[in-house]
Formats: sequence, C-alpha cells, structure tokens
Amino acid sequence: MAALLRFLNPEVGMISPRTRERMVAGLRSAGITDERVLAVMAQVPRHLFVAEALASRAYEPVSLPIGWGQTISQPLIVARMLSAVLAAGSPRRVLEIGTGSGYQTALLAALGMEVFSIERVEGLYLATQELLRHLEVPRLRLRLGDGSRGWEENAPFDAIIFTAAVPCALPPLFHQLLAGGCLLMPQAGRAEEQRLKCYRWNGQDAEEEDLGECRFVPLLPGTVNQKDQIGV
Ligand code: SAH
Repeated sequence: MAALLRFLNPEVGMISPRTRERMVAGLRSAGITDERVLAVMAQVPRHLFVAEALASRAYEPVSLPIGWGQTISQPLIVARMLSAVLAAGSPRRVLEIGTGSGYQTALLAALGMEVFSIERVEGLYLATQELLRHLEVPRLRLRLGDGSRGWEENAPFDAIIFTAAVPCALPPLFHQLLAGGCLLMPQAGRAEEQRLKCYRWNGQDAEEEDLGECRFVPLLPGTVNQKDQIGV
C-alpha cells in the first residue's frame, strides 16, 4: 500500500493525522469493514479537496460545498461506494462520472486503480486537474464533458461510478463494463428520495443491490464552460 501512496505529502497543512483517524473510527462504527478503504481514507488528506475556509470541517460526517453549486460527498457514502467497487476483487480500471473535488478520484487511484474521470463543469475540471497534478496522483485520465454516456474509447471498465443522481430513464452503461464488473449509482426515485444502487454485471444480466438512502446533486446534461459561469 505504501508504494501506492507516494503521491501524498504527509506534512499537509494544520490538520493532524489524528483528525483523519477519528473520521476513520466513525466509518468503522458506521459499518465500513474493508481495511483497504479504511487505510486509504486514513491517508488521503480530504481537507485539501475543499476551500481553505472549510478545511477544519473536512473530516466531519457531512457533504460540503465545493463551488459551482456542487458538493464533496460525505465520507460514509464515499466509503460505501469504494467498498462496493472492491467487493468484486481487485478492480483495475474504473470510470468515475462527476469528478467534482477529485477526492474520490484520488482515493480510487490510491487503491491502485487506473482512473478515468469525467466532469461537466469546466471551472471544477480545471481546478481539480491542477490539484490532482500538484498531488502527483498517478494513473489518472480526466476529461471535461457530459459523462452520461460513459467513455466508450476507454471501455471496458471493472467499475463505473456515478457521483451525481441518475434519472431512472438513463440507459445503464452495462455495455462498457467487463463481465463481473459493477455499476454504482445514486438513483433518483419518486419525490425527493434517492437510493444508492449497485448493479453487478455478469455479461448478460445485472444483479441489483440496494445500498441505502443517499443524497446527491443531480446528473445534468451538457457542459458548463468558463465563459458561461457567472458566479461560483
Ligand atoms: N465525488 C465528487 C462528487 C461531486 S458532486 C466529490 O466528492 O467531490 C457531483 C459532480 O458531478 C459535480 O461536480 C457535477 O458537476 C458532476 N456532474 C453532474 N452531471 C454530470 C455529467 N452529466 N457528466 C459529468 N459530470 C457531471
């Protein structure tokens, strides 16, 4: 594991590793048992993925604003998603739709995966690209665009993760998955409710698992370019 985490600078800011350890203890008591997930979450400096003014809250069990009306997902949801991805064994290639702050992107890379990630908001894409480069996160391909149709040229993937709530009508991206792979997505249902769904694809059929209630920003079509962004 240590070799995979070379890109992390242990001397980051004012936040002590103990703060991260407390977050991990909270994840354990909330039912996260995968030691690989707990280990990377204990090491990746989440506070670098939010604005400095919010850094002191980065390890609380909440989602936080990251600008452009978007949020960094709360640690427990990220941990659940990573655990579901790892449940099938040792996934190598993963597609993330909704790069956002890049926190989950960095965790996936720290777990040894080759990560392909798509973001539709140019301002976020550029800022996160710079941060991930600065942190020397390895095995990463970022793209600005609408990820709702996946990333055909780089398919197939072992896992596809949506980090924004997917409307029921969107056709699932099973054709971009390897047999044995999984598709994870917050699914928008009736009223306000969203459920985190994991579909395991065997090459012909998908087995659905419900990972509980969740709350994500919606998956939106098209891209938002810098010149169209009025305020953040
Ligand atoms: N995992 C990220 C979640 C960010 S919120 C984090 O923890 O920071 C979801 C992100 O999905 C937002 O950045 C939003 O702009 C992006 N998004 C929404 N619809 C999208 C689409 N169709 N294609 C790509 N990204 C999308």
